[in-house]
Amino acid sequence: MTDSSSTEIKFSNGQKIPVELHKVRMVQKLYLKPVEERLDAIEKGGYNTFLLDTRNVFLDMLTDSGTNAMSDNQVSSMLHADDAYAGSQSFYRMETAVREVFGKKYLLPVHQGRAAENIISQAFIRPGDVIPMNYHFTTTKAHMELNGGEILEIFTDEALKLKSDFPFKGNIDIDKLKATIEKHGKEHIPFVRMEASTNLIGGQPFSIQNMREVRKVADQYGILVVLDASLIGENVWLVKKREEEFRNVSVGEILATMCGLADIVYFSSRKVSSSRGGGICTNSKELYLKMRDLVVLFEGFTTYGGISVREIEAMAVGLYETTDETVISQSPSFIEYAVNELDRLGVPVVTPAGALGCHINAMEFLDHVPQSEYPAGALAAALYIVSGIRGMERGTISSVRDADGNDVLADVELLRLAFPRRVFTLSQTMFVVDRVNWLYQNRELVGGLEFTDEPAVLRFFNGRLKPTSDWPQKLVARFKQDFGESL
Ligand SMILES: *Cc1c(COP(=O)(O)O)cnc(C)c1O
Repeated sequence: MTDSSSTEIKFSNGQKIPVELHKVRMVQKLYLKPVEERLDAIEKGGYNTFLLDTRNVFLDMLTDSGTNAMSDNQVSSMLHADDAYAGSQSFYRMETAVREVFGKKYLLPVHQGRAAENIISQAFIRPGDVIPMNYHFTTTKAHMELNGGEILEIFTDEALKLKSDFPFKGNIDIDKLKATIEKHGKEHIPFVRMEASTNLIGGQPFSIQNMREVRKVADQYGILVVLDASLIGENVWLVKKREEEFRNVSVGEILATMCGLADIVYFSSRKVSSSRGGGICTNSKELYLKMRDLVVLFEGFTTYGGISVREIEAMAVGLYETTDETVISQSPSFIEYAVNELDRLGVPVVTPAGALGCHINAMEFLDHVPQSEYPAGALAAALYIVSGIRGMERGTISSVRDADGNDVLADVELLRLAFPRRVFTLSQTMFVVDRVNWLYQNRELVGGLEFTDEPAVLRFFNGRLKPTSDWPQKLVARFKQDFGESL
């Protein structure tokens, strides 16, 4: 396929602007409330964007999980779903999709991505095991540790450099992988985990070349390779764009190549196929049987796995759509547009642009706010106040306290602005760039936050905070000076 089938279309002035290659046929009304009401809403929400009511949110960029737009074909497929406890036709259609798209014979449906992680961890991890991976995801780490495993992140030196032009920050460091296996012994390594578009380090992809090398090392030692394919579409798209060998290869072939290098592929359909649910797939009957009975125990019968058959239909159609460039390029193209525009304006963003969202480096954006006062959380609250845009804090608020009650400071303080697939338009994206830039020009007005109510576990979800001074009021006053009565 040629580039004209992707969302990157050249304008006559030479500029590359992402164009939506879909039309909107069902809409949901959005509200952009006046700035005083937004201040009021964030106060009521304890300065935590998780606690905002969507009635007060203009652009919801909290996450891409379960918030993507479905296609007409997905919605219509749900009407011919076959309701049956066992042997549903919907399951067989999904099984066919997995075989044709991922190239895997056996499918175990599960209710979402973390359920797949529960099954895989219980089936393969024993106390004392270590699991090497390019980077962890929150739910992955939790399930592996629950089963007595320890995660080892063996990313390359480029991975944590926020400003970079390295195309594959999601790669595994092959020398570190070999050293890890030698050190711990292959009998303590149930599998190597590759995560497509590493979620927590800015949606950064790995290359096929890197995965081939991982496969080679794993084969030398007789270790399994497990692929977390929740964000696979975007990783595939970025391989096509950035890896010379694959420039003229169809995304369907790249996807199949990637899955072909893994023994087990699992995914969250809340992301990869814009529906609900998830799945585990493999070509090995032995591996399938090791997991099958756990699915029956924790999820449901093996032809519905805790999800409705309607969702299974939408998943199947969504999987086929993952091989369509106009579908998988939409979100990364819009992210690239936003990241490049903000970078050009001098706003500190994570580069190169990746999948999932635009990540703002809050430590640099608010370099006058000490890390103990949660710059990423403060930035999330401030951006909401000046725009109605809801992002997610990915910094120290999302971290924990140590045994002495001190904050464990995060490696990086990021504000993530997620781009759910096919949800926002270019003018909305331009609004995001404009308001983030305005806030950057007025950044000295933003102060820190402190906890008033701090849950003992996963405090970022329900924790409540307050500003360390009256900075929100000053920010609102400046906003009104510049924007008058405009929203
Ligand atoms: C979201 C996600 C998961 C977990 O999936 P859920 O459906 O939210 O349980 C696992 N891995 C990655 C990379 C993800 O992005």
